[in-house]
Amino acid sequence: MNPNPILRQELSAALSARGLPTHGFIGAASLHRYVSRVEPRLRDAWGLDAMRGALVAALPYDPAKPAAMPGSQYGIIGAFAAAHHYAALARLLKAAAADISKSGAYARSDFRVAVNSPLPEKSLAVLAGLAFIGRSSLAISDAYGPACVLGALFLPFDPLDIDAKAAADDRSAAFAPGALCGACRACVDACPVGAIAGPGASEPGMARARCIQHWASDAESWRLPEELPPAVAAAWGSRLYGCDECVRACPYLAGSFEPLHGKASPAASAAALLLAKEARPGPCVDLNLLIAADEDALKRWKAGSALGFGWFGAHAIRRNARMALLSYLEPFGI
Ligand code: SF4
Ligand code: SF4
Repeated sequence: MNPNPILRQELSAALSARGLPTHGFIGAASLHRYVSRVEPRLRDAWGLDAMRGALVAALPYDPAKPAAMPGSQYGIIGAFAAAHHYAALARLLKAAAADISKSGAYARSDFRVAVNSPLPEKSLAVLAGLAFIGRSSLAISDAYGPACVLGALFLPFDPLDIDAKAAADDRSAAFAPGALCGACRACVDACPVGAIAGPGASEPGMARARCIQHWASDAESWRLPEELPPAVAAAWGSRLYGCDECVRACPYLAGSFEPLHGKASPAASAAALLLAKEARPGPCVDLNLLIAADEDALKRWKAGSALGFGWFGAHAIRRNARMALLSYLEPFGI
């Protein structure tokens, strides 16, 4: 299939008009190699064999520590999940696909969206030239560092008229965790549980089994603090869900929250794109209210939010809330 740079330009303009100026493209050759490594069930689910290219976009957020809620014992929700950035990004990508389909060249159904999906999305961001994989194993975008959510719009046409394979090969170092981090070890030092390997380590990247976020989102394999790795239990603090320390430490993230050209920061502009239903549950929540809430109330609380997964049930919310409450009762390692 011939490349279609005109549609690429139209799509780029549609994305920018909808508030997503930071995006990149993957051509047919690179996408084909990516798809060949994706599990068949996921290839089928996203119809990837019919796709000829992809657009990857970044939606920034501000990972600043939330202000304390006076007088309450509150739990902190990681900045990436405090609002439903994923839903907003998926909505905007779908809208851009609808914009393009008005030309009649392709139907809206010829496009597919992947945001916070089981597909290897970080690899797509690297292939699109938007990011490299940091020591923290996070995708470090050139524009916002790790302080953004990433999503893909798969395209029925090849958007690139250059040798995409050569461009992708040039970025091979960007896939190796930490290979482009230079001497920086800020996230290594910031991680409260030592989950991130330092420069020169034989096994680079982040060890999930030590990561607080991993355990906070594991709804099944533990119920009591003593079932957690001791370092994770000791460092849990007031987190209800998520951990922002390795994001906050990264020097690349300044582009997300610094004012741009004397105007609002990219994160503030992105926050303005959120619908009211996407701008919740917010960064802090009263732990005692969560623990006392019945199953229906907890379902309503998490519904439509980034915590709204079916697998993250009421028992996991209450369990994490009890864990966070300990930080107000016990003086260990907080
Ligand atoms: S999310 Fe937190 S615990 Fe996990 S690697 Fe990052 S800093 Fe460490
Ligand atoms: S904090 Fe430093 S070492 Fe960690 S991902 Fe960012 S640039 Fe790389």
